[in-house]
Amino acid sequence: MIRVHINDPLDQEALSLLTSKPQLNVTSEHLDKSKLLEIIPEVEVLIVRSATKVTRDIIEKGSKLKIIGRAGVGLDNIDVNAAKERGIKVLNTPGASAISVAELTIGLMISAARHIARGTIDLKSGLWTKKELEGVELFGKTLGIIGLGTIGTEVAKRAAAFGMNIVAYDPYVTKHEIAKMVTLDELLRTADFITLHVPLTEETKHLINKEVIEKMKDGVIIVNTSRGGVIDEEALYQALVSRKVYAAALDVFEVEPPQDELRKKLLSLPNIVATPHIGASTIEAQQRVGKELVERILKELSL
Ligand code: NAD
Repeated sequence: MIRVHINDPLDQEALSLLTSKPQLNVTSEHLDKSKLLEIIPEVEVLIVRSATKVTRDIIEKGSKLKIIGRAGVGLDNIDVNAAKERGIKVLNTPGASAISVAELTIGLMISAARHIARGTIDLKSGLWTKKELEGVELFGKTLGIIGLGTIGTEVAKRAAAFGMNIVAYDPYVTKHEIAKMVTLDELLRTADFITLHVPLTEETKHLINKEVIEKMKDGVIIVNTSRGGVIDEEALYQALVSRKVYAAALDVFEVEPPQDELRKKLLSLPNIVATPHIGASTIEAQQRVGKELVERILKELSL
């Protein structure tokens, strides 16, 4: 029997597909790091989403570990180098959640531009703040996309339908059918809205910092549904206070949940719209992610 442990929630249909295989002994329960370390020597397939950090010590204790399945895209919660050294396959599901993340990105963009969240909060508190909530249109504005991969492209398609001009910066993409490829400096100089769709790597950590923000247009709106670590949040906080940045819409934070002092003061600002890392949290995305991941794992196990 091959022991499969699922440490973060997995779509029900995908779970049923796994449990229907008599060769697999499947357990599904969120274990904290110390408990996971206890069971990991018996596990051959470990399945996670973004919450579980699959660190080097977990991988090294996993003497039978063959596959780490990541239900989603970003691999920044998995020590991929440690897995590689031990010959462990890391499987993810690129593309399966792209439409959901792109739709949330557009939603956050409009929410930041039109104060939808602030209006809701004010109304719930009995305040009629109509005069304070004048916003801006998306139509005719320039959207700068940093990272023009699967999600960036889905965002570009949707933003084009709103009548936005689209420019993008991605050192690994030279030509695109919707976006005009530009340098980072040109994007920063011309974009009214900037949206981030890069993976979190050594190269992209704090890509949006004080110096980079200074090069942006005054009154820019920043949207981040990639990874919190791509933005230096202290620099963003200062820029939101000074109104250099008109508003920011964030689905992701460098610390999640964002309960430390920096994140608390960031979230307390009126020109922040925020969601708790729900980019891929739709019924459709989770069904696609679960199905694709399980199919990849079963193929790898020749089942
Ligand atoms: P992708 O690999 O298709 O696209 C990423 C793009 O970023 C690539 O085109 C790559 O060339 C580009 N890139 C890499 N380094 C860059 C740099 N330094 N500057 C500019 N561009 C750079 O990935 P994707 O499916 O579009 O996902 C993007 C990211 O979105 C993921 O890595 C993940 O962190 C995040 N994500 C978040 C959620 C969420 O719930 N909010 C869900 C899924 C994915």
